[in-house]
Amino acid sequence: MIDFSLDKTQEGIVEKYRSFAQKWIVPNRMKYDESCEFPWDIVKEAYKAGLMNGPIPKKFGGHDYSIFNGALGSEELGAGCIGIGICIDANTLALTPLLLSGTEEQQKKFFGIIVEKQGVAAYCLTEPNAGSDVAGIQSTAIKKGDKYILNGHKRFITNGEVATFHTVFALTDPERGARSLSAFVVPMDLDGIEIVSKLRKMGQNASVQNEIKYHDVEVPAENLLGGEGRGFIIAMKTFDRTRTGVAALSLGAAREAYEISLEWAKNRIQFGKPIAANQAVAFMLADMATQIESARALTWKAAWSYDNGTKDASKLAAMAKYYASDVAMLVATDAVQVMAGDGYSKDYPVEKIMRDVKLCQIYEGTNQVQRLVVSKSILK
Ligand SMILES: Cc1cc2nc3c(=O)[nH]c(=O)nc-3n(C[C@H](O)[C@H](O)[C@H](O)COP(=O)(O)OP(=O)(O)OC[C@H]3O[C@@H](n4cnc5c(N)ncnc54)[C@H](O)[C@@H]3O)c2cc1C
Repeated sequence: MIDFSLDKTQEGIVEKYRSFAQKWIVPNRMKYDESCEFPWDIVKEAYKAGLMNGPIPKKFGGHDYSIFNGALGSEELGAGCIGIGICIDANTLALTPLLLSGTEEQQKKFFGIIVEKQGVAAYCLTEPNAGSDVAGIQSTAIKKGDKYILNGHKRFITNGEVATFHTVFALTDPERGARSLSAFVVPMDLDGIEIVSKLRKMGQNASVQNEIKYHDVEVPAENLLGGEGRGFIIAMKTFDRTRTGVAALSLGAAREAYEISLEWAKNRIQFGKPIAANQAVAFMLADMATQIESARALTWKAAWSYDNGTKDASKLAAMAKYYASDVAMLVATDAVQVMAGDGYSKDYPVEKIMRDVKLCQIYEGTNQVQRLVVSKSILK
């Protein structure tokens, strides 16, 4: 049986996130886009409203959200502002390794710390020589007694400077290369963590990214997640869960750009009639609406597939991530075109959405890398 309707719980999730976005995100999105500051006030409100740490088990202070229900929330955050939305959602990325591979004791301890502090965490994979190619990671964590000595250099790390802890990927045996990649929880109060710089960027300006160096950081051995050499698989399995979230954020931003430009097209009069009365404009709007519906259908299918453990869930997550973010880029660009001079101005949010969604084609694996995942899967 196919049923595209949401149940009462899911409708409640959509309503909760949508009203939060209307109250806290929409009125502040341009302010944070300009200030490039982390929106702590909104994150604290998100904690109060129960929007943080969706997939964490309820017994550890989360909400036990399925990937599908998480995607419903992320679409609403994306419609408000992806930059602020990612400040709320990035914990999902950083905490998923702990969710997938942490022991009961580790989960209780580290989820507990984040929830109690109402804090955020950071996922530290990318390095100067390891972007798309995760196997190029050079950071090391060498066991010495009951500690791992962490040395390395990460870049583009979302939440880096504002995090309570980092989830860091490093080699425990450099001679074995990526086969020894391992994941660690690295609390920020340990000595030797240097925030080198903050990234200046095109969009999603409410979120912060840092270049970070670890100098002989003594990480307790009990902070290793899932055993030595499990890092690569943990990193990939994390993306299988979180890429649907990027798709949903993209979808929300596309929806917002489309709705704003639709209203504009109905009301902007040129040559004595609304611009929407011109087929050239009306067809752009039709394409935008169709692309958004298709992206939502794929995102929902990917989320449903993960939740139901289907064999093609990883491929579908990659498809949804690249398709929805490509759609968001097309829709946002067309929204600017429909609104023309006003669309290009900072008086309306569509130019910001156009800048914001570009990043969704890049992070959590570029869209070329997603196509690599899909093509490998269908050609094997
Ligand atoms: C704002 C922002 C936030 C981020 N947040 C995080 C974070 O929180 N944690 C984290 O660990 N990382 C994060 N990243 C890093 C992000 O995941 C990487 O930027 C991304 O994976 C691409 O790596 P790269 O930028 O080094 O590009 P490169 O890997 O150098 O790629 C350059 C180009 O080559 C293409 N390319 C590379 N290899 C192939 C191939 N085999 N086939 C086809 N095309 C290929 C890419 O698609 C791209 O177009 C973030 C990045 C940004 C910009």
